[in-house]
Amino acid sequence: MFEKVLIANRGEIALRIHRACREMGIQTVAVHSTADSDAMHVRLADETVCIGPPASRDSYLNGQAILSAATIAGVDAIHPGVGFLSENAAFAEMVEEHGYVFIGPTPDHIRLMGDKIAAKEAVRELGLSVVPGSDGPVDNDDDARRIAEEIGYPVLVKAASGGGGKGMKVADTAETLPAVLAHCRGEALASFGDDAVYIEKFLAQPRHIEVQILGDGFGKVIHFGERDCSIQRRHQKVIEEAPSPALDQKTRAAIGARVTEAVGRLKYRGAGTVEFLFEDGDFHFIEMNTRIQVEHPVSEMISGVDLIREQIRISAGEPLLLEQSDISLSGHAIECRVVAEHPETFAPSPGRITDYHAPGGLGVRVDSALYSGYTVPPHYDSLVSKLIVHADTRDECVMRLRRALDEYVIGGIETTIPLHQRLVLEQDFLDGDYDIHWLETKLGL
Ligand code: ADP
Repeated sequence: MFEKVLIANRGEIALRIHRACREMGIQTVAVHSTADSDAMHVRLADETVCIGPPASRDSYLNGQAILSAATIAGVDAIHPGVGFLSENAAFAEMVEEHGYVFIGPTPDHIRLMGDKIAAKEAVRELGLSVVPGSDGPVDNDDDARRIAEEIGYPVLVKAASGGGGKGMKVADTAETLPAVLAHCRGEALASFGDDAVYIEKFLAQPRHIEVQILGDGFGKVIHFGERDCSIQRRHQKVIEEAPSPALDQKTRAAIGARVTEAVGRLKYRGAGTVEFLFEDGDFHFIEMNTRIQVEHPVSEMISGVDLIREQIRISAGEPLLLEQSDISLSGHAIECRVVAEHPETFAPSPGRITDYHAPGGLGVRVDSALYSGYTVPPHYDSLVSKLIVHADTRDECVMRLRRALDEYVIGGIETTIPLHQRLVLEQDFLDGDYDIHWLETKLGL
């Protein structure tokens, strides 16, 4: 097992990784920007290295600086967390070339799944069905029109290298399609340095259902059931739950088996998530994330498995001891993403935390790096806390979530706690009756 791991991230996920390492007897090295000197993961780590100024491109996205920190601290491995360099195949390669272990899949698998067009092609060959659309990149308006006519409007134009909901836009008619293509190409080039786009049928009422897997790199893959992440705003997840209220046991087992079979044929290593849109009983693959996900705690709560510990164990070359039959999912878990934004206008709200009181009690988990007196810097993602609750049934889980949200005090900044308090009272939410458009269309958010 590793003796020392460098955590190439910040915020709650850096703290989450630190906690897993600590419980495994592994020393941690926190790297941080000058804006994060007082961050909780920096305060708790065994060693710290400042890697640059606040801007992400100069610090958390600066692979050279992170590798220098790894050399100074003499680590065995680097955990990239989520976002930043976690799905950067060139970084993973660089880490390995320098003799460190990258806690994640092989660079080849990161590269394959990072190109969403190549990923769709690959999983289709592995036997999963995909959202109908163009077979490859769409280079000109005439091809785009022809494909859109074939699949029918509305269509969704998506960036091949897209992520975080960026670089995608709906075209309702043939008239608007060229402008939408141009818009997406521009956004894709600016955000991802790649202007390749493709077209998909825009599904009217799907749920976002994703399957959490772990692979040993030799063909053994197990799954932890699904997460339902349909409550979204601007294609970004707001609330996630497991299991999905929309699946029965038979459907769950069937999609789990199909995913593990497909990913097993790839000989995938580490943690991964296979994402689908689920509509009219059919699963359509949209993408695979080759890393741990923000919403992994809901799967941990119903399975009792520490996914980050398993991720670290696999990377250290230990065999995957868990069998599919060992994974028994029990009860229900829901996660609310609390972000430092105004709950109605969604205006960013960084600043100093004047009061902090986290909820507790049976079945309540808070993954957050906040503390009283901490200042949320304005430079990064606005996620400041994940409130996760677990109970025997979905109804009990919702009651527990309401209670926990009511207890949660984050003073000094605006957060989306009031939004979550509102959502958990909605009848559709109580009924589990929502799709990916629900938040925007039914609630106008
Ligand atoms: P990203 O990598 O940017 O997160 P995804 O392909 O995972 O992009 O899609 C993000 C979200 O966008 C999905 O969860 C879903 O809500 C919406 N979406 C993606 N593809 C489609 C589609 N074909 N039809 C309708 N909504 C879609």
